[in-house]
Amino acid sequence: MKKIQMVDLQGQYQQIKETVNSSIEEVLNSSAYINGPLVHEFQADLEKYLGIKHVIPCANGTDALQIAMMGLGLEQGDEVITADFTFAATVEVIALLKLTPVLVDVDIETYNIDIDALKKAITPKTKAIVPVHLFGQVANMDAVMEIAAAHNLFVIEDNAQAIGADYTYKNGTKKKAGTIGNVGTTSFFPSKNLGCYGDGGAIFTNDDDLAHRIRGIVNHGMYTRYYHDVVGVNSRLDSIQAGVLKAKLPHLDTYCNARRIAAQFYNNAFSSNPHIITPKTKSNATKNCGEICSTCDCHVFHQYTLQITNGKRDELHKHLLEKGIPNAIYYPVALHSQKAYTDSRYNESDFPVTNELIKTVISLPMHTELDQEQLTYITKTILDFVN
Ligand SMILES: *Cc1c(COP(=O)(O)O)cnc(C)c1O
Repeated sequence: MKKIQMVDLQGQYQQIKETVNSSIEEVLNSSAYINGPLVHEFQADLEKYLGIKHVIPCANGTDALQIAMMGLGLEQGDEVITADFTFAATVEVIALLKLTPVLVDVDIETYNIDIDALKKAITPKTKAIVPVHLFGQVANMDAVMEIAAAHNLFVIEDNAQAIGADYTYKNGTKKKAGTIGNVGTTSFFPSKNLGCYGDGGAIFTNDDDLAHRIRGIVNHGMYTRYYHDVVGVNSRLDSIQAGVLKAKLPHLDTYCNARRIAAQFYNNAFSSNPHIITPKTKSNATKNCGEICSTCDCHVFHQYTLQITNGKRDELHKHLLEKGIPNAIYYPVALHSQKAYTDSRYNESDFPVTNELIKTVISLPMHTELDQEQLTYITKTILDFVN
């Protein structure tokens, strides 16, 4: 059996080596390392793939979130609501910009922002909501958009983990994750579903004015060379990374499908175990897909995350490592409990789901190169331990 990896970037590279290498060589031969033609070509390809008017590439997914918030003109003291159960980047940029982060609990089935908790957190100071499409499952965007419209709030989708996913509205229309709110952001960190070979990120919007502001902000606040109209940042996707991404984008749907096939294997293996809760896929708030469907594409399994309900999650984590099965706890600490983000306004009783998930979740190897032998070994090892 091939050695099991949490993410197999090498195996994936071997399949696409020729196109990736020739993209990189193109950059080396042109020396257009910054802002070269491949950056523009990748940007145009991604706009087409997502069905969105503007993609603005930038240096990473954290910058993308920060720049989106700067572009929307959010100001000190504005409250921005996001999920308590996510990677810290989301709340970090809110705090960095001197906005006020307001963390709310998540839904036990989707691990995404809880709609009732979101409604309760709204105050006259609330200016924006940041739904995070965690682990590759799109949040309940029908509800988020309704709430945003009713309270005149911006919606910034943190799509770092769900690029390629489709959201199906209650009325049946579909949109790509990240293209539903006022602005969407993503990360091309190597292990993300569309990863480059270094750092990278992007911001998406259909709003022409916002796109114009953001293009200036990523480039030192310059709209005309050496005239700085606003305070900006320096945040660029370099040409080599754009070349890697241009070579990989045509494979994204196949990659998402490979992940779903592995997830379905896991789900089938674990479904009847009383101590294991498998991830649910929901095309929207009203329809629970039950089984993982390759047609609705609502979940792209950036992570495959189980809940272990018999109190043995930490023991399982260690046992699997001993058996050569990498695994990870995403995330072991709720954001509201992190030293940097505690706030006297929070009560532990506001976060029952997050406080439960941090004790029960475990993420299994998930990538595009998992084979049946590896999946069989992983599921058997887990079932032998948990039973
Ligand atoms: C990875 C990630 C980010 C940050 O992306 P970087 O490119 O690492 O800066 C932001 N939000 C979420 C949910 C992420 O998973």
